[in-house]
Amino acid sequence: MEFSYSSKVKELQKKLTDFMEEHIYPNEKVYEQQLNAQESRWSAVPPIMEELKEKAKAEGLWNLFLPESGYGAGLTNLEYAPLCEIMGRSPIGPEVFNCAAPDTGNMEVLERYGTDEHKEKWLKPLLAGEIRSCFSMTEPDVASSDATNIEARIERDGDEYVINGRKWWSSGAGDPRCKIAIVMGKTDFNANRHEQQSMILVPLDTPGVKIERMISVFGYDHAPHGHGEITYENVRVPAENILWGEGKGFAIAQGRLGPGRIHHCMRLIGAAERALELLCKRVQDRIAFGKPLSSQGVIQEWIANSRIEIEQARLLTLKAAYMMDTVGNKEAKTEIAMIKVVAPTMALKVIDRAIQAYGGAGVSNDFPLASMWASSRTLRLADGPDEVHRAQIAKLELKKYQ
Ligand SMILES: Cc1cc2nc3c(=O)[nH]c(=O)nc-3n(C[C@H](O)[C@H](O)[C@H](O)COP(=O)(O)OP(=O)(O)OC[C@H]3O[C@@H](n4cnc5c(N)ncnc54)[C@H](O)[C@@H]3O)c2cc1C
Repeated sequence: MEFSYSSKVKELQKKLTDFMEEHIYPNEKVYEQQLNAQESRWSAVPPIMEELKEKAKAEGLWNLFLPESGYGAGLTNLEYAPLCEIMGRSPIGPEVFNCAAPDTGNMEVLERYGTDEHKEKWLKPLLAGEIRSCFSMTEPDVASSDATNIEARIERDGDEYVINGRKWWSSGAGDPRCKIAIVMGKTDFNANRHEQQSMILVPLDTPGVKIERMISVFGYDHAPHGHGEITYENVRVPAENILWGEGKGFAIAQGRLGPGRIHHCMRLIGAAERALELLCKRVQDRIAFGKPLSSQGVIQEWIANSRIEIEQARLLTLKAAYMMDTVGNKEAKTEIAMIKVVAPTMALKVIDRAIQAYGGAGVSNDFPLASMWASSRTLRLADGPDEVHRAQIAKLELKKYQ
């Protein structure tokens, strides 16, 4: 394994870092102010976002994900990892570079399993950053960490499919630019366990699609993106909206969630780096009991442990990315599962230490730490809870001795 960064990656790292310093960090508060100045936090996307996207596009910092595709920037997962990490340092960063969840995972699905028409209609505007998308798999009424439990129905009726079901945690559904959902449901309740499910493209303006409410995360609404509870009632879409074919939903989910998961981990490493940086700056200036906080052994231990844990997580992420590039997403599933457990836990520990070092300021919204912690905590659940990933790792480990 060779993890040193190529000159192309180093150049992009520098460009991205400079862009973050010049345009992203100074505009985090502007974004929030513009959002709050609107009639409703859900009515529009703050204008600063579109301005920043244009700047990023002009600098070639656009669609850096999507390996092995003519639609992407021609980077491998391994090359993308250190870049995604930089974007993940800010909550508004990934969208500026058109590398935000859940669009990247959805675009990978459309690129891999979509027909030419799907690509023309949905992938191209997503790649251009003109529209956004959501992914509707999780349901309130069943334990959705086991995707075979999904109960939404996708039934064929002539040239159409009819969709009925209730979903929640469809991230991004609140965004006024969110035009398309990838919905997972069952086309055949009697088929083999992993062949009952299908995925289908549902334009959000189709009659019968209703966003019932937006769900908050520890009180944060994450507007205008948000997390929607959506009912699909007798929603009719053309039969050609099915992805790959009936019964392929589970297989697509396995493929989709691989890249989506590792992207979250890359961003979490960036968030942890930023938290550590904030911690280190704060403790050198803050004097308690006659000396800087940084001279306290316990705080030095927090700093050292944070650096150790970030490096460990980064190396495992790079290994997972390397495996995805060399043996494919399916073969890399253990590494992806491992990093999906490691990265959120690591980020939470580092951010928590930074919060502690900031004292009361750490839990306020004057600094980004509290919201970083809340978002990172969701990633011990979203895209599969830790326990499910651990169960998979253990299963594969035990298999070696059977
Ligand atoms: C902020 C956020 C964003 C999300 N975005 C999306 C999205 O865009 N699209 C989407 O479809 N979903 C999304 N989700 C949903 C997320 O993927 C699910 O919450 C997750 O898969 C768990 O499903 P569940 O909530 O039904 O929990 P359940 O399946 O009810 O599981 C509850 C708990 O049971 C435990 N458990 C489950 N299985 C095992 C096991 N095998 N061994 C031991 N313990 C186990 C785990 O601790 C788990 O947390 C999001 C969730 C959050 C919080």
